[in-house]
Amino acid sequence: MIIQQIDTFPLFYRLKEPYGDANGYKYYRSCYLFRIRTQSGMEGWGECIDWLPTLEKGFRERIIPFLVGKKITDRAHLVATIQKWHKRIAAGVSMALTEILAKVAGLSVCDLWGGKRRNVVPVYASFQSYSNHDDWIKSSITKVETAAKAGYKQMKVKVGGKSFREDANHISLLEKSVGEQVQIALDANQSYDLFTALKWNALFEKSPCSLWFEEPLPVQNNSDYSLLRSRCLLPIAGGENIQKPIQFISNIQAGAFDIIQPDPMHLGGIDSFRDILQLARYQKVRVSPHTFDGILSRLYAVFAQSCLPAWSKMKGEEIESVEWDVMENPFNKLLPVEPKQGTVTVPVGIGIGVEFDEKELEAYRWDGSSYS
Ligand code: MG
Repeated sequence: MIIQQIDTFPLFYRLKEPYGDANGYKYYRSCYLFRIRTQSGMEGWGECIDWLPTLEKGFRERIIPFLVGKKITDRAHLVATIQKWHKRIAAGVSMALTEILAKVAGLSVCDLWGGKRRNVVPVYASFQSYSNHDDWIKSSITKVETAAKAGYKQMKVKVGGKSFREDANHISLLEKSVGEQVQIALDANQSYDLFTALKWNALFEKSPCSLWFEEPLPVQNNSDYSLLRSRCLLPIAGGENIQKPIQFISNIQAGAFDIIQPDPMHLGGIDSFRDILQLARYQKVRVSPHTFDGILSRLYAVFAQSCLPAWSKMKGEEIESVEWDVMENPFNKLLPVEPKQGTVTVPVGIGIGVEFDEKELEAYRWDGSSYS
């Protein structure tokens, strides 16, 4: 089980129309996939994200020379070493090596992890609500209505990037349109202070079916979060950018969140990511993985959530949903995993149970030019 070869697939797609959140607009989507192959011909896929020229140089000059010739069974040590250089690459390498080990054992990733507890995992439709058009609210409502018709029961939209009045108008109109059918989470991307975050209570009072309020405040502000949590009428969620397990422990101990949102790409490895899911269970907080930036890492989040013990005995609410990017993103089609009626059926089969469409991978291959 010696690593012989690593092939890289830097992917780039310029969006037809930019879309965004309180942090600004996205003008393109990128993805960096790689395939690790052993001397015996076993293959596993990894994924990470960063500026593509940085990743390409890093792989050519450091990651590939470091990994080739190493033993797959040294996974923990290899991942820990790469974590010191680039956490997201380490996460991707951990995915690829996990897949290879599962294949060597003749098991699915879920079986390797102790087995699925459920075959279907709920997902929520995740929107980037803002566009640079004056009628962004109308366009957002149309997109949300389309997702509701497709069967999504939970959705997430953005706030915090416009005036409070404009955002509140957007949310009120959404509630009127789909509020009877779906639950809506609001994501402020750390935009507010405590006073402004609490202004939302006036709307939450009228919309008891809302899902959660995501990162209204800067995430390091534990004391304000615990105060907000004691007064806010919605559960408070956060933690997508947290890179160290210790920070989740500190947030949980401070009572900052009702729902934590670890990202499988941000914690330096799929094993650390799963540790945080289990930590949530030990601490009795809910955990809904953040997975906006990757298709393979999202699949690993689905695997992990399918193996996780239930958080609640309430029928239909035993497992928290995983984020599903429903914006214009052609990479969503690279793996044959599609939500139906707001749920994803966990692939069965050896390894990750599905194959990448390599023709499509080539169609979106980055041409090597610089971009911004
Ligand atoms: Mg968020």
